[in-house]
Amino acid sequence: MSASDQSDSAGDRAAVDHELVEAARAVARRYCRGDNHTVAAAGRNADGRIVTAVNAYHFTGGPCAELVLIGAAAGQGAYDLTTVVAVGDQDRGVVPPCGRCRQVLLDYFPTVEVIVRRGTELLALPILDLLPEAYVWAEHQDG
Ligand SMILES: [Zn+2]
Repeated sequence: MSASDQSDSAGDRAAVDHELVEAARAVARRYCRGDNHTVAAAGRNADGRIVTAVNAYHFTGGPCAELVLIGAAAGQGAYDLTTVVAVGDQDRGVVPPCGRCRQVLLDYFPTVEVIVRRGTELLALPILDLLPEAYVWAEHQDG
């Protein structure tokens, strides 16, 4: 069964963007090298473009692939990511965003969907589903 055959037909859930998953998987396979780059991310912009990135590990807190992705996307004029996914190197498959990335994704793209794995199934979930009782930074700023 190829990745594109994986079921995402469950009820009211958003369809999984398999092209995006494959884009992240391809970058993970081609460009994740050694200990510095171990996770790839791909984002779909509202205009349809796909942007990709890899993490930049550093013991001082180097950014995850999702955070590099936000900057890489902006550097190409892609400011409106609608779906994001991360894939681990060495064929680890889809990996969920860490807590920091969930918060940053929410604050940059409040309606973004994140592709995660639940068992053998891929799901596209609204970022707020990944952050129950979320702190929304914009709601706590003056003016
Ligand atoms: Zn992260």
